[in-house]
Amino acid sequence: MTTYFNYPPPELQEELKNIAQAIVAPGKGILAADESTGTIGKRFKDIKLDNTEENRRRYRQILFTSDDVLAQNISGVILFHETLFQKTDDNVKFVDILKKKGIIPGIKVDKGVVPLFGSEDECTTQGLDDLAERCATYKKEGCGFAKWRCVLKIGKNTPSYLAIQENANVLARYASICQANGLVPIVEPEVLPDGAHDLDRAQKVTETVLAAVYKALNDHHVYLEGTLLKPNMVTPGMQSNKASSQEIARATVQALTRTVPSAVAGITFLSGGQSEEEATQNLNAINKFQSRKPWPLTFSFGRALQASVLRAWQGKDGNHAKAAQQELINRAKANGQASLGQYVAGTTKGSAADQGLFVKNHAY
Ligand code: 13P
Repeated sequence: MTTYFNYPPPELQEELKNIAQAIVAPGKGILAADESTGTIGKRFKDIKLDNTEENRRRYRQILFTSDDVLAQNISGVILFHETLFQKTDDNVKFVDILKKKGIIPGIKVDKGVVPLFGSEDECTTQGLDDLAERCATYKKEGCGFAKWRCVLKIGKNTPSYLAIQENANVLARYASICQANGLVPIVEPEVLPDGAHDLDRAQKVTETVLAAVYKALNDHHVYLEGTLLKPNMVTPGMQSNKASSQEIARATVQALTRTVPSAVAGITFLSGGQSEEEATQNLNAINKFQSRKPWPLTFSFGRALQASVLRAWQGKDGNHAKAAQQELINRAKANGQASLGQYVAGTTKGSAADQGLFVKNHAY
């Protein structure tokens, strides 16, 4: 075993670090709008809308043409490949609309979850084969960062050693390829909330998974200052008793301080099936929790930033579109406050603020 290696050249380090730090600037976080075609179809079904390319474009247009105040709380948007090349009704590329607002476009680069043969319904994530070429194209198209999601499941025998090692390694390989192409990798090892396990078990699994991820990132010589972590908040299983925001905050901060190096630029939580209001309140409690916290702790929410937007939109133009944009701005502001520990519970209403957003076995 030799220990010789290089980090990226200084200019690249600087570039990656600056992008990562801009994303986690105080009071800001990420809108995850990178639902695959299948996943957005499920969201559209709830509002009885056909899953056509044109409807997907109309929906994302509403998100990205919201008033410029959105940029006070949204620093980055994660796009799906198709969206990256779409334009507004006025023929302006979505990427340019976002950049003009001062929002950094990002891109989902994984190609989805696949089963690990012989495991207890565990999975890994594919998409490494042509990743370097795709990253180079995405950088040229204006993206500053990328996302890759891995999924781990809590069961009696899971996550297994195989699932932990395989997912840690694929995340590290992805991160290294992103950095080589000038993209900040968001590293997302999501421990799913399915199950009847308690908070303590969720915390220990999260710690074990994160420890493996950071060992792998080190093995792959990933430059941590130019990365972001997108973890689950530590919550009890969905089929278990609920925990308070304070209990969730303690378990989450403990798990992170035990395993995530302080060199990491920031932590941007996924919402993972919590309601909009729960996700905001838990993020707020995490930021209020008294402890040493060496990284900014903010949001990279998908469902918990879009549930009220979709409910208000209903697939219609005019006032409905305006109302949908206002929902997005309100929720982004609430989460911006939560990322500073300044959100007052219940002060942001939304048409779906308290609706549970849990999707069973949200792996594929
Ligand atoms: P949720 O916030 O809906 O969990 O999604 C975030 C995300 O991007 C998952 O990869």
